[in-house]
Amino acid sequence: MSDKKNKLHFSTKSIHVGNKIDETGATVTPIHFTSTFRQPSFASTEKYVYSRVGSPTLAALEENLAMLENAKYAYAFASGMAAMTAIFMIFKPGDHVLISRNVYGGVFRLVTKVLNDNNVDFEFIDTTNLETVSDAMKDNTKLIHLETPSNPLLELADIEKISNLAHKKNVLVSVDNTFMSSYGQRPLDLGADIVMHSTTKFMGGHSDVLSGALMINNDLVSEKITLIQNTGGALPSPFDAWLLLRSVKTLSVRVEKQFENAGKIARWLDNNSKVTRVIYPGLESHKQFDLATKQHSSPDGDPVYGSMISFELDQSINLDSFAKKLSIITLAESLGGVKSLISCPYFMTHASVPDDEKMNLGITPNLLRFSVGIEHADDLISELDFAMNHN
Ligand code: PLP
Repeated sequence: MSDKKNKLHFSTKSIHVGNKIDETGATVTPIHFTSTFRQPSFASTEKYVYSRVGSPTLAALEENLAMLENAKYAYAFASGMAAMTAIFMIFKPGDHVLISRNVYGGVFRLVTKVLNDNNVDFEFIDTTNLETVSDAMKDNTKLIHLETPSNPLLELADIEKISNLAHKKNVLVSVDNTFMSSYGQRPLDLGADIVMHSTTKFMGGHSDVLSGALMINNDLVSEKITLIQNTGGALPSPFDAWLLLRSVKTLSVRVEKQFENAGKIARWLDNNSKVTRVIYPGLESHKQFDLATKQHSSPDGDPVYGSMISFELDQSINLDSFAKKLSIITLAESLGGVKSLISCPYFMTHASVPDDEKMNLGITPNLLRFSVGIEHADDLISELDFAMNHN
């Protein structure tokens, strides 16, 4: 990126970085639908050879993604889980990896059902507690993977403090930044080594593309991920890469509105007698409100708190009939889009986590996870109110 571009604001760069105007003058980066590229001679070393190894559409996206997190390198993947798998593939038998105790159910499933025979020792710990993290590190610990805020409990881990602890012992830190998006949190700036996103969520923002990303500053890690990405081949198609590049242009305006809506709705829920528990990092009642205020910030430095809210309704409310009364708010998995979605993690996203573990963590059958979209906040509140009172 040129020095001039580097000085621009985040919202300007999200539109311009990677989005070059080509020789046709088209103002939108074209999609290169090709699996292979003509070579001038047998022994040539052209930039693009075969689309699994690199293509112009992917390169445009990766340049843009790297900028979002002030990273040296970015890698696009076919899904968040493909990006997560790529991180774990770096490690070898005998290595020890620490993971936040409350992670997306798919990450739990990957570790306990897919990678469990690979002899990497994965251990889930409470990463909200620095002492627990410090005590859990062993001589063979190679990575601490943080999901912050976590899905669905919105637990936070102090990225800066944990990175300091980890680096003293040559341990890498990766952060799943899906819930805040690059607009709301930039873990590499806080000392982390790897940022991971399910870009299916806020970065894509329209619930129409499945994709993932890694942003990295560490040269050695980047070398390994390059090999894993282009050999494993879990890449987004040129169309999906293009959709994501298109979506990031509106990231700032979308999430600013989502965050604002979520703040209003969280306060409304908090003052509602039919709601017994509200978890939102922007409420002072959140156990880690101070950390959220310090750690989550817009690119202009203002505190932001995300647009994910988890809440429990009074036992007198039947959840199925509550959900049936919703029409703007859609009952579905996933999150981060312009359209509001609601889910019940116990039965849906975290179905693969054993029931007793869910209950120990506080993921109860009546905990709802609300991904607030950009509809008018008053319409969302009216709908929730109606569904609670016509049960
Ligand atoms: N990480 C988090 C926090 C998620 O919520 C999800 C999906 O919900 C993933 C990772 C996995 O991403 P994907 O569904 O794009 O594979």
